[in-house]
Amino acid sequence: MNVYDSERMAEALGSEGYIETTKPDDADMILLNTCHIREKAAEKVYSELGRLKSFKASNPDLKIGVAGCVAQAEGAEIMRRQPAVDLVVGPQSYHRLPDMEAKTRKGKKVLDTEFPEEDKFEKLKSRPKGRRAPAAFLTVQEGCDKFCAFCVVPYTRGAEVSRPVQRIIDEARDLVERGVREITLLGQNVNAYHGTGSDGSDYTLAKLIWDLDKVDGLERIRFTTSHPNDMTDELIEAHGSCSKLMPYLHLPVQSGSDKILKRMNRSHTSDSYLKLIERIRRARPDILMSGDFIVGFPEETEEDFQATLDLIEEVNYGYAYSFKYSPRPGTPAAERQQVEIAQANDRLQRLQSLVTHQQKEIQESMVGSTVKVLFEKPGRELGQMMGKSEYLHAVHVADAQIAVGEIAEVKIVEARTNSLAGVFV
Ligand code: SAH
Ligand code: SF4
Repeated sequence: MNVYDSERMAEALGSEGYIETTKPDDADMILLNTCHIREKAAEKVYSELGRLKSFKASNPDLKIGVAGCVAQAEGAEIMRRQPAVDLVVGPQSYHRLPDMEAKTRKGKKVLDTEFPEEDKFEKLKSRPKGRRAPAAFLTVQEGCDKFCAFCVVPYTRGAEVSRPVQRIIDEARDLVERGVREITLLGQNVNAYHGTGSDGSDYTLAKLIWDLDKVDGLERIRFTTSHPNDMTDELIEAHGSCSKLMPYLHLPVQSGSDKILKRMNRSHTSDSYLKLIERIRRARPDILMSGDFIVGFPEETEEDFQATLDLIEEVNYGYAYSFKYSPRPGTPAAERQQVEIAQANDRLQRLQSLVTHQQKEIQESMVGSTVKVLFEKPGRELGQMMGKSEYLHAVHVADAQIAVGEIAEVKIVEARTNSLAGVFV
């Protein structure tokens, strides 16, 4: 979502004449888009700001801004800790960037961490009409009302809000006209999407996907991140019947222990999650599952952790993202008895070696099979092209006479650590 938001911010400032640069010493403004989900990410912001402020010595006109969820959570504290910062902007106020930029040019410090009533996406829609890479993100829903005991998202991104259907369809059509073939619908809880159609009717994510299915030129649809409790029957059914919906699903579970899940306020059990995956696989047998896990949540015992490993064994994940629990100020779990760091480190390592093993086995099992690859860019070797399979595996083909944006059948001949090598069928 931060990638998507950064693009929107670049566009908002583009209307003020800004263009992007990758070199900080070329920049008139440096905006750090930040993540507050774990402490490490938040702390990095301050070390990065310490580094970036030195560019002000050679360019006194340089403005430095902090955007994203650290900006939302810490607000004025950022300017106090790092006085070189001119601008602090929360995720709901990006459409106001041009005004804020003008104020910083007058030497003012600007802080905006409100949750304004107006629709920021509507205000941000003046996109420049350039070509786009074949795979794009599209935010359809933001915020979260679930309040898992470890998570800052409901506080930093605010309550759940869904964008109207027509705006999403218009944005998708615009992306397709500019070369996009694959769209990943984004939301902190994307499958809780509950937008309004142009006739005033209620829309679910499944219904939105079926509307996008009708967009000519759009070949692939994905969505992330989902909550197990919002995987409705019609969404599961869409995985079986909508050919543009790709067979890959990111469905975080966090833990395999019912005691921990309860304390996390997840409102699902390990068994209900496993039954859900069974139903999804019945609808789409080849679907590749991925998940998120937290180890070392307060009061997690060895037995609880073992239950997580058992769940992973049972599901067999194609990808998994795993994190050591990070206490976040203001969330209920931060007040509880913490697990020792050495123990959490040990569990993280054991969990990661299990999922790495599963991932590798799944990749190796792809050898000999044929997948469809959407080619996204040239590879590192001369003549090589890289793309993604339906299952989101990175696939490369040597001496590939194929253009970016094309989809072709590829037979997998080798599984490497982070990618698959293939030849055209
Ligand atoms: N809405 C999604 C998750 C969004 S946050 C869901 O409900 O599953 C992305 C991931 O970050 C989470 O799935 C979780 O695994 C991790 N995460 C969130 N807060 C965390 C914390 N305090 N410590 C460690 N990991 C955390
Ligand atoms: Fe955070 Fe996801 Fe729980 Fe919402 S559902 S509080 S985003 S982990």
